[in-house]
Amino acid sequence: MYINQISPLLGCQPLKTAQIKQPKQQNIKEQRTVEYSLWNGPSVSFEGRKKRQYSSVLAGKYEKPSKFRIARIPNLTCPACGQKIMTRHGYTTFLDKIRKAKEEDYLTILDEYKEYMCPTELEVFDSIKEHADRIVKEGGTPHITEIVKDLRQIKLPELEKIQLDKVEDMRDAIQTLPGAEKRRLNEKFNTLTEIIVGLNKKAPFRRKTLIEWVEKCKISDDYVKTELLDIAYSFPSSSESACAWIVKNSGKDKQGNDRSALELAEKLVSIASTSTDHVLARNIELNHDDITNYMAMHKGCNSEKTDKSFMEWYNESPHERHIFIRNYLKDVKEALDKGKIKDKKYKDYIKDCVLNIYKLSKGNVDYREEFCPETIKDKSED
Ligand SMILES: [Zn+2]
Repeated sequence: MYINQISPLLGCQPLKTAQIKQPKQQNIKEQRTVEYSLWNGPSVSFEGRKKRQYSSVLAGKYEKPSKFRIARIPNLTCPACGQKIMTRHGYTTFLDKIRKAKEEDYLTILDEYKEYMCPTELEVFDSIKEHADRIVKEGGTPHITEIVKDLRQIKLPELEKIQLDKVEDMRDAIQTLPGAEKRRLNEKFNTLTEIIVGLNKKAPFRRKTLIEWVEKCKISDDYVKTELLDIAYSFPSSSESACAWIVKNSGKDKQGNDRSALELAEKLVSIASTSTDHVLARNIELNHDDITNYMAMHKGCNSEKTDKSFMEWYNESPHERHIFIRNYLKDVKEALDKGKIKDKKYKDYIKDCVLNIYKLSKGNVDYREEFCPETIKDKSED
């Protein structure tokens, strides 16, 4: 990231283009070092991330993420959240349908797409639906925009309460800092409180801005900084909290307009469409474009995963993720067994993927027994 910042000054291309001309690994190392130095707190460990774990024992099966054929199989289980993934084609069909529909039919259409929604959007949809059913029962006509505004009245105080508690956690975290530094930060936290409760009209609260502020903030104690950063990241985001979703989307958009019912309806489904995830994060590994390093995933779930290592991501909810990944593998296997993908490159996808996961997790995540028992003997030898 530093390279990108200074590259215009040096008159050269930003990293992405420059990478082509330079040995890739060198750049990758450089990027990671920058990140390590940002995250050297005790709670975050990058053990095992620095070393290259993924070797080319398996013959290279390269493909651009956009061409990854597995992502075109309909109704796969999302390995991150367990809901169904929508193919790009499926998403286009949805858009076509909802854009042609009358507003009163939006909820019925959304209901048909429920199984594809990511967990937060599903929770939001269920609250909207519940509210709408009540309105119908009382003889009224439900409007999505109005319902979302009503829900905001309930959710905003809930969200503010959570956020204010986090500010208190931040105040606790800086107790050990020198007096002057503590006072300076406490003043900033006062402003933050004003922003959260809407007293500062010029600056609406944005989680991203808060994180960026903490990242840039000069704090003498690295441990305290890491703690503050952890708290900043734990503020509810609209992708993980239904409360935050409703508050964010019931407000004005960037142009200062209310969001239309159509916009809201599309938003509930848009991140359910397919994306190709790199099992081992893209910028740590040279062979990241090998199909054995790909899994299809919800667009939304993939952007949540960002560049976490496989194990960091898996350990966020190991019990659920273990089942979701298994279901994903099962769905893909079924499609491959039915001959839905002709390309020979994909013939051993399941086996390769299972072995890749086994290796990345140092044997902790093991689906070999179920999907490729024949590899167990061979593997124990190396
Ligand atoms: Zn998902």
